[in-house]
Amino acid sequence: MTFADLVLFNGNIITMNPKTPSAQAIAIKGNRILYVGSDREVEQYVDERTRVIYLDGKTVMPGFIDTHMHVVDYGRMLTWLDLQKVVSIREIQSQLIERIKGVNSSGWILGRALDSDGLLEKRLPTCQELDAVVPDNPVVLYCQSGQVCVVNSKALEVAKISQQNGAGIERDTAGKPTGVLRDQATNLVWHVIPEPTQQELYNATELALKKIVQVGITSVQWIVLSEVEVAIIKKLVETNGLPLRVYLIVPTNLLDIALQNLKQLENDRFKLGGAIIFVDGYLASRTAALCESYSDTSTDQGKLVCQQNEGIVLADKIQNAGLQLIIHAVGDRAIHEALSIIQNSSRNFMVPRPRIEQAAVLNQQLLCCIKELDVTVSIQPCVIASEFSVWSVEKHLGEKRAFWLFPVKALFNSGILVSAGSDCPMEPLNPLRGVEAAIKRGGEHKVSVFEALQMYTEFAAQTVSEFGDKGSIEQGKFADLVVLSKNPTSVAVEELVDVFVCFVVFNGDVCCSKS
Ligand SMILES: [Zn+2]
Repeated sequence: MTFADLVLFNGNIITMNPKTPSAQAIAIKGNRILYVGSDREVEQYVDERTRVIYLDGKTVMPGFIDTHMHVVDYGRMLTWLDLQKVVSIREIQSQLIERIKGVNSSGWILGRALDSDGLLEKRLPTCQELDAVVPDNPVVLYCQSGQVCVVNSKALEVAKISQQNGAGIERDTAGKPTGVLRDQATNLVWHVIPEPTQQELYNATELALKKIVQVGITSVQWIVLSEVEVAIIKKLVETNGLPLRVYLIVPTNLLDIALQNLKQLENDRFKLGGAIIFVDGYLASRTAALCESYSDTSTDQGKLVCQQNEGIVLADKIQNAGLQLIIHAVGDRAIHEALSIIQNSSRNFMVPRPRIEQAAVLNQQLLCCIKELDVTVSIQPCVIASEFSVWSVEKHLGEKRAFWLFPVKALFNSGILVSAGSDCPMEPLNPLRGVEAAIKRGGEHKVSVFEALQMYTEFAAQTVSEFGDKGSIEQGKFADLVVLSKNPTSVAVEELVDVFVCFVVFNGDVCCSKS
């Protein structure tokens, strides 16, 4: 008889295993699940060395899988001033006064998660209000989406913004920049902020990984965009520093470097999983490639940034290297292009199915094509919410295309496998915020809480061919679990925000315990 190292009794276990959807208890041996069943059945696995936890009816789910995150960027942002909970401009000012004490004379002060709706004044602070407390150091405070920021005069000066006349620079009636920058204009300051050192980034990444596990994410599909990140991951894997499982996705320009440095390091916690080709940009910056122009312009339809022939060569290279082919495509024209690349490249059936990242502006024909080519789709539900609330989709895309923007339910109904991620730090980290956003998509495209959770567990594992190891609570799979205070599938939508993580089990070990 094999006895368990850890047993969880008296839980409400949502297994995400269609054959046995619910259970009461779980026995764990080493880093794997030994048995899932009733309290009575699991009792026989307990001996005097077994650690036993009684859950008092709390809900257990498979550890969440986030299919789209930028971990190093998130870490970097964690070192910034967190403005999420500030309630007034006065409070922002006093936080800046506190912060300036630890900064040298030319050092930058960066802030994040500024939300004008959460402020008493219901507006962003002005440049002058920031100058009043920090006149000599550059200050940049980002709103949650990162597409809007407010800066002080020193930052305007360093970034030479008065001399520029691009879009997105908000101006007062006299034509002077107010300090508010939007969309592309945010890059003007971003590019002059000094780069942190590799050690600083490494420390920030370690902090980010801890925070990621705390919200119940035990597997992350980490999208790397710079070479320094490859070095950071290499060190993390070599020193056994990963507190969760990583499926790494690299851009094609880093493919060779990643293969050379990371492929031989693969283990239970780390896999060099996929490589991503970008065929267009983003809706908010109008760089997403559309078949017809944006509704509020007569000519602008975005453009493709990768031609089909070039795309096919890259796609072959990715699949020949044994990696999953992933294509970032947002506009309908780009999605069409992505599907052509997939169709005309030589498919490697030993790697997970090709996938489209975002696939925002769809239509019935594209859905059929995605299904036919057996392609999966990875979405970021919080991005959907931002497109509708911050970017006003109807105005920019027109009613018809807005209806077909992220039609989550239609993807489900077409039998297409959909997984979900956060796009953190551009959007909030917590998968339950993503679940909320997915069900708020509303109208005909609304999914249920359970379906939204499938995108963060079962389906997320299936899209990378890892369902044999994770994505559901089943005998033999990794013991990666999240224990929640309430059952997200039975609370009212407005109560989802109150569901919190009590503790996490990763690789058979209890972590992030609240008590
Ligand atoms: Zn992203």
